[in-house]
Amino acid sequence: MARGAKKARDRVLAFGCHPDDVEFMAGGTLALLAKNGYEIHIACMAGGEMGSPTQPAQEIRAARLHEAETAAFVLGGRFHYAGGQDLEVEYNDFYRRQTTRVMREVDPLIVLAPPPADYLVDHEETSRLVRNAAYIASVPNYDCGVPTRHTRRFPYLYYWNAVGLKDIFGRPLPITMRVDISSVIRTKKKMLACHESQRQWLAHHNQWDEYTETMKRWSRAEGEAVGAEFAEGFIQHLGNGHPQDNILKQILSELCIECR
Ligand SMILES: [Zn+2]
Repeated sequence: MARGAKKARDRVLAFGCHPDDVEFMAGGTLALLAKNGYEIHIACMAGGEMGSPTQPAQEIRAARLHEAETAAFVLGGRFHYAGGQDLEVEYNDFYRRQTTRVMREVDPLIVLAPPPADYLVDHEETSRLVRNAAYIASVPNYDCGVPTRHTRRFPYLYYWNAVGLKDIFGRPLPITMRVDISSVIRTKKKMLACHESQRQWLAHHNQWDEYTETMKRWSRAEGEAVGAEFAEGFIQHLGNGHPQDNILKQILSELCIECR
């Protein structure tokens, strides 16, 4: 490296299904990682096409992708769209290639993904796709459809908690750590506030006009479990090949509380 040249920063990729999923469930942890010098990338599988009672799909997609880009920018991060559509995400060849393309473009050290069990099939399929891409992106002979370099390593992989903090049977997920995000709750709120069209949609469709309040309620419930004001819960993926040590604990120290 030339004298004075800046060392490339390690990258974090938070890969959700819909625009705003990442900010809702892991925005605080991303803010802490950004503060610790990590380069932040946020990706979404689908473009939010169903999120309007009046606007056509293409129009609302453009608006929502722009909002997601703005939210990533709050952390100086980059946004990636994997090219999928709301309510159509499934584990198939198209989505497998697209997810792997994004994984290779970012080549992350740490990946955050939706949990394998969640309230919406779109989320669960995204979880499988991201998990698989984290593995196969490093296989040189896997062709993702565009010329890309394979990744250099298996990333650390973590799943965030389920929406509403429960699976479809109402049970809590086996959370292995919680990150104290009290110091960055305002940043998380600011990221979420970028998703204005989603707030409007939820108010219309789900009679759910307390967008940021819901986020704070869930973050507060996670915090209560570990004696913090606000927190986010995660489960580390410990499948064969992936690193087995907890890098979030190493980076965030006492802000990452392991629950074993
Ligand atoms: Zn979603």
